[in-house]
Amino acid sequence: SSPSVDAAALYRPSYVRALLAAQQIRLKQSLGQNFLCDRNVVEKIVRCASLQPDDVVLEIGAGIGHLTCALARHAASVIAVEIDARLIPITRAVLDPLTHVTLVHADILAAPLRDLCRQQGMLPTVIVANLPYYITSPVVLHVINAGLGVRSMTLTVQKEAAARLIAEPGQRGYGATAVLLHLWGAPQVCAPVAPACFFPQPQVRSCVLHVTAHQPPRVPAHLAAPLRALVHHAFNQRRKTLHNALAALCGSPAAAGALLAAAHLDPAARAEALSPADFLRLAGAYTARS
Ligand code: SAM
Repeated sequence: SSPSVDAAALYRPSYVRALLAAQQIRLKQSLGQNFLCDRNVVEKIVRCASLQPDDVVLEIGAGIGHLTCALARHAASVIAVEIDARLIPITRAVLDPLTHVTLVHADILAAPLRDLCRQQGMLPTVIVANLPYYITSPVVLHVINAGLGVRSMTLTVQKEAAARLIAEPGQRGYGATAVLLHLWGAPQVCAPVAPACFFPQPQVRSCVLHVTAHQPPRVPAHLAAPLRALVHHAFNQRRKTLHNALAALCGSPAAAGALLAAAHLDPAARAEALSPADFLRLAGAYTARS
């Protein structure tokens, strides 16, 4: 049955606690269920997203709709996706008056984003998410791989996850996701978010990351798949030299050596020494092989 919800009271942790208790819901840490309970921070996230009145927002992880309501005030429509069936009746009640919001009960990672959007009959123009730590990187890659042509992603993530996403070559945390994200867009940390802004409070600090997609895209469509394969092979065996790490993908160590020579890259280098532009050049050379 649909609970009665006072949407205006959602910023009061005591109200949310009672609402969840009435539905016998215990929030799951495993799903990163820390809800934003600070109106100013929610407004800050919306400002970071720089929404236009005609935007279609895809919100990943709607929770009980705190951020969704704020996004809905600034966009033409919102597709809000939430994995936890237990929260859906509450979220539905919160969002019910907002006819331009569609709540979808789904695991965002379960199917290609294009399929989800096709089912909703709308293509998003921007992505906004307050993400659980454990799916930050998979979600970022899921969005990049979808090739939806969105203008930006605005992600509230754990501070350490943000550091990894924006890491440059040679910096701690630089890896496959950072390479692919830098080639997708320009990431920028917009604002810190203190643990006290969430209910329940997490142990970690968070921040809002805004990534503006490169326009035109830096990765031509035909290079997307080879780029992904090269980046993942290179970083999955990050202690190996590129010559060895790419041997399986190229068919032999000699073929890997030839590829690296064609891309003017040192075969003795390791993945972490290559810039995103180096990887893109490598993908071009890989695709050009006869
Ligand atoms: N947007 C709300 C807010 O800002 O208060 C909730 C954010 S909470 C940090 C993350 C939400 O993502 C949780 O409600 C969780 O159930 C949901 N979630 C976790 N994994 C998910 C997945 N794979 N697909 C969709 N939603 C997911």
